[in-house]
Amino acid sequence: MRVFNFRLTKITEWQSKLALFSRIERRNSEPPMSKIYTQIQVSESLLGNEKLLWRSLQWAFFMVGLGLFLSLIFFPDFGVVAFWDVLIPLAPLLFLLGAGAWRNVCPLASVALFPHHFKFSKRRRLSTKWQGGLSMGSVGLLFLIVPARHLVLNNDGVATAITLAFLGGMALIGGMFFDVKSAWCAGLCPVHPVEKLYGQKVGYTPANAHCGACHNCVIPCPDSISKQVAPKPRSLQDLSSTLLTGGLPGFIWGWFHVPDCRSGGNLMECLTAYALPWATLALTLITYVLLRKFLPKDLEKRLASVFAAASISCYYWYRIPSLLGYGLFPQDGRLIDLSQSLPLWSVVAMQVAAVAFFGWWLLLRKTEQTVWAVRPPYLVKRK
Ligand code: SF4
Repeated sequence: MRVFNFRLTKITEWQSKLALFSRIERRNSEPPMSKIYTQIQVSESLLGNEKLLWRSLQWAFFMVGLGLFLSLIFFPDFGVVAFWDVLIPLAPLLFLLGAGAWRNVCPLASVALFPHHFKFSKRRRLSTKWQGGLSMGSVGLLFLIVPARHLVLNNDGVATAITLAFLGGMALIGGMFFDVKSAWCAGLCPVHPVEKLYGQKVGYTPANAHCGACHNCVIPCPDSISKQVAPKPRSLQDLSSTLLTGGLPGFIWGWFHVPDCRSGGNLMECLTAYALPWATLALTLITYVLLRKFLPKDLEKRLASVFAAASISCYYWYRIPSLLGYGLFPQDGRLIDLSQSLPLWSVVAMQVAAVAFFGWWLLLRKTEQTVWAVRPPYLVKRK
């Protein structure tokens, strides 16, 4: 027992020495603190096997992402199906069940955080105004890129790869200049608003595997706060959140009613690919804004959940049949053609089951667990 106690004491001593060393080293590498920041604590939340596991998963997903990117260029027939008809249809479900786990391993997040992990980020802080601007930009990018799928991306691997390279470049540049996740993962990423909308009641909350220690890079931190916290009224964040929450159900409905252009879109096809989703977006947005105006204030969060449930239900209502060859435009978005072997009623049963599940998950299920990832200990905290 004495031997054990002695060893424990020695280990603790060494741990404190290492922590002190690490603190000094980090302090030297810190940018000068402005008056509004306070240095609180230095420690890593991820240790041992857990750290090894998440780092391995991050590299594995990054390599899969890279493989997918290369296949879009060199094996486009495989690449477009793997990307648009396997990965993308799974994404909304992943955000719903465990947005934090996805954010821990997303290949674009890894690209955005290379500068942080390999220490070549300038680690600037984004002002609140800029955060609002980026949140508007992310919603804008989403509503611009998704209709382009019908025009070119759904059937063109190289065009999809160029789009991904463009997004990856922006993620990297964002990470090179701004601290941790502020510019990309919590800013301009066009998937982030959808994560926020669907990830209101996640079922799994892992450790935050990218941040190490919290730099308080963005306030409020989307990984660490309850999604029931509403943005400040009349802020740009509020505007982008309203646009997304209210507009997404209509946008999705309109998007599924436009066919893919297979022969290079002419002007009319281009107009339809954008005009229909945007027009139906406007309809549900107006409905949402009016309901928000006239319903009691305490129903506002409930209303947002109803629109989130409507969006994800609408998505899978159309996506499930199209994956199986039963889509409105059978050639589009088809993963496997089962239209000759699978009875129609079973497809309808899947659609109804999906809608019932999303309604239960977002509207009926009682849960307190609404945080995507456990915030690591603070390195820096803004007062
Ligand atoms: S946990 Fe801290 S460092 Fe990580 S994204 Fe949130 S605020 Fe930024």
